[in-house]
Amino acid sequence: MQYKAYKDGIRLSRLGMGVMRLPIENQDDSRINYEGAKAVIDDCMKKGINYYDTAYIYHGGNSEKFLGQALAEYPRDRFYVADKFNLQADPDFRAQFAEQLRRLKMEYIDFYLLHGIQDNFVEDMLECGCIPYFDKLKKQGKIRYLGFSFHGSPANLKKILKVYSWDFVQIQLNYYDWYFGDAKELYEILTEAKIPVMVMEPVHGGLLADLTEEAGRVLQQGDLKYSQASWAMRWVMGLDNVQVVLSGMANKAQLEDNINTFEEALALTEEDHERIKKAAQIQRSAVAVACTACRYCCPNCPKGLDIPFLLKAYNEAKLGGAWRLAGLDSLPEDKKPSACVNCGSCMKHCPQGFDIPKYMEEMKVMMEKG
Ligand code: SF4
Ligand code: SF4
Repeated sequence: MQYKAYKDGIRLSRLGMGVMRLPIENQDDSRINYEGAKAVIDDCMKKGINYYDTAYIYHGGNSEKFLGQALAEYPRDRFYVADKFNLQADPDFRAQFAEQLRRLKMEYIDFYLLHGIQDNFVEDMLECGCIPYFDKLKKQGKIRYLGFSFHGSPANLKKILKVYSWDFVQIQLNYYDWYFGDAKELYEILTEAKIPVMVMEPVHGGLLADLTEEAGRVLQQGDLKYSQASWAMRWVMGLDNVQVVLSGMANKAQLEDNINTFEEALALTEEDHERIKKAAQIQRSAVAVACTACRYCCPNCPKGLDIPFLLKAYNEAKLGGAWRLAGLDSLPEDKKPSACVNCGSCMKHCPQGFDIPKYMEEMKVMMEKG
C-alpha cells in the first residue's frame, strides 16, 4: 500500500475505504451483512488501508455502528475515521455529533466533514452555527481535522473556503468529470488554496468500471493487466494534490483490484492519457444519465424507489433498446418507474441535478409500449 504524508506526522493510505456499499441482506440497504462486511474491513486492515469514511446517513444510519464494531479490535492509532454531519438528516449538529460518537463507540473522530454541500443549501450550512461548534470540538480534541464534502459550483466552493481554515475538502473527482464537469476547476481552486483533496467517486459510481464495449476497447489497447477501474484510479492518483482516493468496496474482488493498483501505482504515459480521454468521449456519447449511485436521492422518495437501480436500467435501455427494461417487470408494482408520483423530492437531493421524474415517466411509457 502506498502512503502519503498528511499533517502532524500522519501518513494516510492513498486508498481509503468508503463504508457505504457494504454487503447487505435481502436487498435492504439498512441491513448490513455483518460477517461479509467485517471480512472486507479485516482485509482492508490487513492490506494497510488506514482511512475509513462513513457518514450519519450511510446504510440507513447503520454504517457508523458497524464500523465502530468492526474496528473495535484494532488499536485506535492504527486507523483514521472520517465521519460527516448531515444537515438534512438532523439540523441539531450537537445531538448528531454526540450520537455519532455513541454509534462509533469512539472518543474522537479523526476527519470530520460537513456532508455533501450542494448549491441549494450552502447558506443554510454556513449560517446554522455548526462551524464554530465543530471548531470548538476540534480544540477539545473530539475532532482532529475539519473539512467538508462538496457537490456544488466553483463559485460556492470559493465562498465556503473564505469562512474557515479547512484542513481538507472532499470532492467528486474522476477523468469523466474532469473533462465534462466542474472537477478540474474545483481541484484547481483547492490546490491553489493549499487544501488537500480527498477524492470520492473516482470511478463515477461504477460508470468508469463498466464502460461501453467501444470505450472499453480503447483502454484495452493499453496495458491489459489493468482493469477499467484501475485506469480510473491511476488517473486520479496522478494528481499531486490528491491525498486519499475513496472506494466504496463491497467485496474481496474489488479490494484486490484496488490493492493491485495502489501497490504499484505506475504513472500513466501521455499515450495512456490520450486513451483515457478518447474512452471518456465515447462513454459520454453513450450514457444518457451519468448517475453515480450515491443514493442521496433514495431516502427522500416517498415511494421508496431504488432510483439508481432504475436509472441504470434506463441507461441500458437508451443504449440497447427498450426491451432491456424487461428485467423491471419482476419488480412489485409499487417499485416500478410507474409508481413515481412526480413529487420532485429526489431532484432536490441529487448532487448531479438530474431530472429524475422525467426519466421515470419516460421509462413508464417505454414499459407500457413493451
Ligand atoms: S419524483 Fe418520483 S422518484 Fe423522485 S422522489 Fe418523487 S416519487 Fe420518488
Ligand atoms: S440520481 Fe442523483 S442522487 Fe440519485 S443515486 Fe444517482 S446521482 Fe445519486
